[in-house]
Amino acid sequence: MKRKYKCIICGRVFPEGQGIVINYGKTLLTFHSSRCAAKFLKQLLERIPPEEIEKYIKRLVEEDLERLKSLEELKRKKI
Ligand SMILES: [Zn+2]
Repeated sequence: MKRKYKCIICGRVFPEGQGIVINYGKTLLTFHSSRCAAKFLKQLLERIPPEEIEKYIKRLVEEDLERLKSLEELKRKKI
């Protein structure tokens, strides 16, 4: 039998394999949709002082930009 989760933002119940389930430390974060996950992310970022996590966010953004750049270079080579 599949497990069921409850979205912590809107309360909707969803089966395992759907939605977004994140095991963060000892806390289980469950979202029925990416929209609810985005809402949570926004609340989280508003609550954490920027000096605490900004360096991690900056690094992630840089890594993503790097990844996009190499993807574009790959595409250009193929054409
Ligand atoms: Zn939800």
